[in-house]
Amino acid sequence: MKPHGPIPPGYSADADGMLLVGGERADALAARAGDTPLFVYASALLKARVAEWRAAMPTEVQLHYAMKANPFAPLLAFMAGIVDGFDVASGGELAAALASGMAAEHISFAGPGKRDRELEAAIKAGVTINLESAGEAERALHIAARLGARPRLAVRVNPDFDLKGSGMKMGGGAKPFGVDAEGVPALVRRLVDAGADWQGFHIFAGSQALAAAAIAETQAQTVALAARLASDIGAAPPLVNLGGGMGVPYFPGDSAVDTAAVGAALAETLAARDPVLGASRFAMELGRWLVAEAGVYLTRIVDRKVSHGETFLVTDGGLHHQLAASGNFGTVIRRNYPIAIASHFGAEAVETVSVVGCLCTPLDRLGDQVALPRAEAGDLVAIFQAGAYGASASPAAFLGQGPAREILV
Ligand SMILES: *Cc1c(COP(=O)(O)O)cnc(C)c1O
Repeated sequence: MKPHGPIPPGYSADADGMLLVGGERADALAARAGDTPLFVYASALLKARVAEWRAAMPTEVQLHYAMKANPFAPLLAFMAGIVDGFDVASGGELAAALASGMAAEHISFAGPGKRDRELEAAIKAGVTINLESAGEAERALHIAARLGARPRLAVRVNPDFDLKGSGMKMGGGAKPFGVDAEGVPALVRRLVDAGADWQGFHIFAGSQALAAAAIAETQAQTVALAARLASDIGAAPPLVNLGGGMGVPYFPGDSAVDTAAVGAALAETLAARDPVLGASRFAMELGRWLVAEAGVYLTRIVDRKVSHGETFLVTDGGLHHQLAASGNFGTVIRRNYPIAIASHFGAEAVETVSVVGCLCTPLDRLGDQVALPRAEAGDLVAIFQAGAYGASASPAAFLGQGPAREILV
């Protein structure tokens, strides 16, 4: 038997043992969606998450949603009403963000390899472009001059440190992201001289960290770096985007980020900041932490079989919707995501089984030798932490399967 990750708080079953998501039975949700597999996102949990963040963080810090974690249009429209801004990383995300109702001045656009037509769309819409290089800056200035527009430009800084314990490092050393810190002052002067509306800095050091102390240390380093750059430039950045990095517990032994500790440390960091940043505003951008726990992937068992003594529950879902849960998206050692039999939620585990998807590849494993209640064909399996990097970060076209259904409740 191998353990699975912790089932997130906020989920329970009705008297029949059927998992409830957003107050609705999992089987009723599958019927409403028309078929399995499906992703269900609970708006009440999204709202609670934002409220938790706001209660913990200093009020002067704004909350941005990094929409690459989950770009489902109804979810975006819901998030637009409860966060302060969106961060996008492609022209496609930009269009989705604008369509969600989020105001252009609260959208910023990062990401390496922005094409001219994406820069043009961003400048026309009036969103802030987080510049990833001096070359991109020149292209943006040129396009803005042609359009007769004053572009809103911020500089993404490649910090000289990374986020300790983070699952995905995005700073420290050679990186395709951002401008190396030593080149930033000259670039900002160039933007200001060219008449651009300089919006500040974007400093993102990593992702999926659980230790509050590591997040707090990175935030302190980020504020210090912003202050150093501002002193060199001789001007205060209007906004310092501190990045994010707060992760969620996916695996056995993981525990949730202590948001109160992160917030208390950030309040201290900001209170003690260099006066050069006295008038600056601050933001954090979070993807996964905001949306992962609010999502559940529901897939139906199609077959139950035994091979060489190992019991397999074969489902109608798989890695084509859950690449990360299958262990094939940036993981070195495969471990089990939080998983349950949705139709016997909370029942005692009585057997060890492997839950696999319907794809004809041995990579398609959703739960490896996990202890679960007895389940048969027709029962529903739930994979948790499915609200982030699921539907849009998995190869839905693989083996001709097609996308999962998605609903926001
Ligand atoms: C991916 C990304 C995020 C979101 O990361 P999460 O781990 O989902 O919070 C935020 N900012 C930038 C620049 C990113 O590339």
